[in-house]
Amino acid sequence: MNILVINCGSSSLKFQLIDAVTEELIAKGLCERIGIEGSQLVYQPTGKDKITTVTPMEDHTQAIRLVLKSLTDETSGVVKDLSEIGAVGHRIVHGGEKFASSTLITDEVVQAITDCNELAPLHNPANLIGIAACKELMPETPMVGVFDTAFHQTMPQEAYLYGLPYEYYEKYKVRRYGFHGTSHSYVSKRAAEVLGKKYEDLKLIVCHLGNGASVSAVKNGKCIDTSMGLTPLEGLIMGTRSGDIDPAIIEFIAHKEGKSIDEIMTVLNKKSGVLGLSSNLSSDFRDLQASYEKGEDAGIRTMETFAYRVTKYIGAYTAAMNGVDAICFTAGLGENSSFMRDMVCSRLGYLGITLDEEQNAKRGEDLVITTPDSTTKVLVIPTNEELAIARETFAIVKK
Ligand code: ADP
Repeated sequence: MNILVINCGSSSLKFQLIDAVTEELIAKGLCERIGIEGSQLVYQPTGKDKITTVTPMEDHTQAIRLVLKSLTDETSGVVKDLSEIGAVGHRIVHGGEKFASSTLITDEVVQAITDCNELAPLHNPANLIGIAACKELMPETPMVGVFDTAFHQTMPQEAYLYGLPYEYYEKYKVRRYGFHGTSHSYVSKRAAEVLGKKYEDLKLIVCHLGNGASVSAVKNGKCIDTSMGLTPLEGLIMGTRSGDIDPAIIEFIAHKEGKSIDEIMTVLNKKSGVLGLSSNLSSDFRDLQASYEKGEDAGIRTMETFAYRVTKYIGAYTAAMNGVDAICFTAGLGENSSFMRDMVCSRLGYLGITLDEEQNAKRGEDLVITTPDSTTKVLVIPTNEELAIARETFAIVKK
């Protein structure tokens, strides 16, 4: 069965068509600038050249219509007609406390996702638009929602509660939810396979280090803590997000700079992180590493502060699980930067970690990058959220 995986943003739409049985990628693509001037579709059937179509896309329905047209096109298409798409898997950012696993999308589920909009005002409405557009164009095709928050719903109360008046949790569900769950789930399961151990017997720490970054602690096959919170702003220092700060800084800066709360939230989300810390040098770690290697202060302070925060979380989660068997690196920075992995792991001697430099220099595959005598293993596992969504979708529609 072919599964269409859809990841809808406010003005973008990423898609992949995956054969759920062989797990092969059949085609993928991206619609950009939906509803904005200059919208375009980039479509790539596997093994063939990319096709870029610059054409107005007023809304997501039109974007999905174009995607379906590309997939079924006589010359560059990959399926004869829409009946060859067995199901659609939608990435949904926030499932609140309602969704602890993926689910078949029904009218009730759409309503429940809508109820979570308040918790992810930038993301959930876009995800819902994607669902509505697919429903309009492929009304008979089953759809499954796969939630970024679901994997973290196993966290115990002591990990998800904040030290705030409990009534805020009762009234507004203010608590830690965590994100990147599809990636943390995929990577931790894959790590168990690579280690040749039972998932349920392991204590794992997954470091998803991309533009957005989060760490999770997975004990005996269940997530017990994660660094992102009510929103994706908490935790590690990210590309442009601050991660953890003293909440009193908000008031302090508001007074000093005469900014409103909304303006400060924009600073914390868009102008902070490694971008802000490096005095706007870059949010891309390749530039920051180059600056570090040139001996520039901006690169050095940014890379070291980032690595230190990752190290602190690893220490905290080792304590939370009373030990750790393996630490996994994934996402853009985690998968590609041997330099950052080295910076983090060189601070983890107390866990009996020695990096195997030759292994650490490799790329693009599942790797164990510690020496055989290391008591804690370090792995690199390329994440594949789309495949994970296709698997979840297939498992549900198969029933
Ligand atoms: P997201 O999905 O959150 O946008 P990704 O997982 O694609 O992010 O990661 C993007 C980040 O990965 C980039 O900002 C870049 O800093 C980092 N990155 C990618 N390749 C490399 C590399 N070779 N060396 C260092 N950093 C890299």
